[in-house]
Amino acid sequence: MIREAVIVGAGLGSRLGDITKDRPKGFLELDGKYIVEMSVRKLIEHGIERIVIGTGYCSEWYEELAEKYPAIVPVHNENYAETGSMGTLEVCAPHVQGDILLLESDLVYDSIALFALLNDPHRNVVLGSGTTQSGDEVYISVDDRQEVLQISKQLETVGSSYAELVGISKLSHETLITMCSFARSHHQDMPKMEYETALVGAQQAGQHLFVRKIEYLAWREIDDASHLSIAKEKILPMIKESESLRGVQREVLLNPGPATTTDSVKYAQVCTDICPREEEFGQMMRWICDELTDFVGSRDAYETVLFAGSGTLADEVMVSSCVPQDGRLLVINNGSYGQRLAKIASVYKLDFEVFESSTYEALDMKALHKRLIEGKFTHLAAVYHETTTGLMNPIPEIGKMCHELGIVTIIDTVSAFSAISIDMERDCIDFMASTSNKCIQGMAGACFVFCNRRELEKLKNEPMRNYYMNLYDQYQYFSRTLQTRFTPPVQVLNALRQAIIETKQETIEKRYERYTQCWKVLVAAVEELGLKMLVEKNNQSHLITAILEPTDTSYSFDEFHDRARDLGFTIYPGKLGNINTFRIANIGDIQPHEMERFVVFMKEYFKPLLKG
Ligand code: PLP
Ligand code: MG
Ligand code: MG
Repeated sequence: MIREAVIVGAGLGSRLGDITKDRPKGFLELDGKYIVEMSVRKLIEHGIERIVIGTGYCSEWYEELAEKYPAIVPVHNENYAETGSMGTLEVCAPHVQGDILLLESDLVYDSIALFALLNDPHRNVVLGSGTTQSGDEVYISVDDRQEVLQISKQLETVGSSYAELVGISKLSHETLITMCSFARSHHQDMPKMEYETALVGAQQAGQHLFVRKIEYLAWREIDDASHLSIAKEKILPMIKESESLRGVQREVLLNPGPATTTDSVKYAQVCTDICPREEEFGQMMRWICDELTDFVGSRDAYETVLFAGSGTLADEVMVSSCVPQDGRLLVINNGSYGQRLAKIASVYKLDFEVFESSTYEALDMKALHKRLIEGKFTHLAAVYHETTTGLMNPIPEIGKMCHELGIVTIIDTVSAFSAISIDMERDCIDFMASTSNKCIQGMAGACFVFCNRRELEKLKNEPMRNYYMNLYDQYQYFSRTLQTRFTPPVQVLNALRQAIIETKQETIEKRYERYTQCWKVLVAAVEELGLKMLVEKNNQSHLITAILEPTDTSYSFDEFHDRARDLGFTIYPGKLGNINTFRIANIGDIQPHEMERFVVFMKEYFKPLLKG
């Protein structure tokens, strides 16, 4: 699996004259977007976690871009004016650990290029295309096994050209190292070496280098003004068209999960078959656990344990694993999911009691405090965000109260994690459950329990009440072997990895802002229509809104649902026994303009019904 890329972007771009007077070539604009930024986004969408960019001329532009994309690591080549692209690659090489994608910064390309290279069976592959007639071709000749013979701008040097070099390659780490030592041995005689020369050098030193040719690839390297105008007028429209053909039909899910996902998360499920007991897959699961932990706490003190299953499984893991034989559990019930936690406690015959509270009004903290003390509870279980109604429980406050009383906290954050900013230490949460398909924006099928490692270790000698769902067993087996005890959902985890990469780019804070913007659009429409919401606005999560169904009209949820569905929106019925509501969630990969489109329809549907 390739996780790192290097972009060589130090060059002066002198052939572009005035256009690059104040900026590196990567910051040429097409359609109002920087070309290197388009490339960075494509790399991220293809599962690249780290993008090392070798900078030189006007390096501050890259440093600014790195502020926007945490995946970018800018590395400065001090001698950029005296070296060629290989000099920049040499400066970047110590900053990568594994195999890489290597790209030039002045390229626009159809992202199929990345897909083809990443899936090519060879470890060292340069991408080639058919004839471009760009006037600046780099030719590649090959032997009968598609191994590279020569790469050169001189046709005479290559003999017969098999393909033109695009400027995107996949390289093993050994090959990168070999290229660097080749370059070092030629610092005197070839101070301005281009990386292509070092590639051929590495090849001659025994590294096998292949060509992957895509005859009609839409791409252009932009080295002068004529390239720029061709890229603008001809190539970019071609790229857009072919990339849009690969888009998956969009359905906006306004149900509270599984949520709408990006195409890149969907495509991440289409991956090489792998036995999950291979080291490589174990490393990927380790990465997933650590990155999930990073969102909510320090790796020293907290640990994430993965399971196959839905959110309820993670809830059941916690409730059935975390309360010791002599423990006493208080479960807060103010909605269906709180009730579910209580149900699980009863199935496992725990010593527990339920603290009942209104499904739509704020919790009585004083009464809770009193009950915790009087009942001599050791553990408390609660739901952070009651998806039934959109009611938020004040978990940081509850957690603090519990920790002051020495009570361990078990929190369902199934629909809160990755939207609400959570710091397990600050918020006094010892165990919390979530799932891959809600605000983290991955696929359904994996769930996880975040654990305070100190509390987790205390479970070590507890007799097992469960087997598949045993938290401590799953944790210690994985720590020891990098394997899960039972088959993990391989492709779902691959998609979860991609979802994590994208969440890191967006950040949880910004995601919550986006969700909130969508919610505001919805609430404005609800208020304009005069519909009532179940929960007071101040206590709402901004993630889901329960709206009271109008009575005495010809309203029908089914009709409302079906008409919305025809327009590509999926809405959700209520979940409270005694009050009729419908619910609109706004989690997932959805944008405010899509919510705008939805509310236009919603107003159209309701206005005639509510007249008079
Ligand atoms: N807990 C909460 C707060 C939820 O919102 C949900 C699902 O919506 C669950 C638990 C159960 O998750 P699942 O349906 O994935 O089992
Ligand atoms: Mg070039
Ligand atoms: Mg160039």
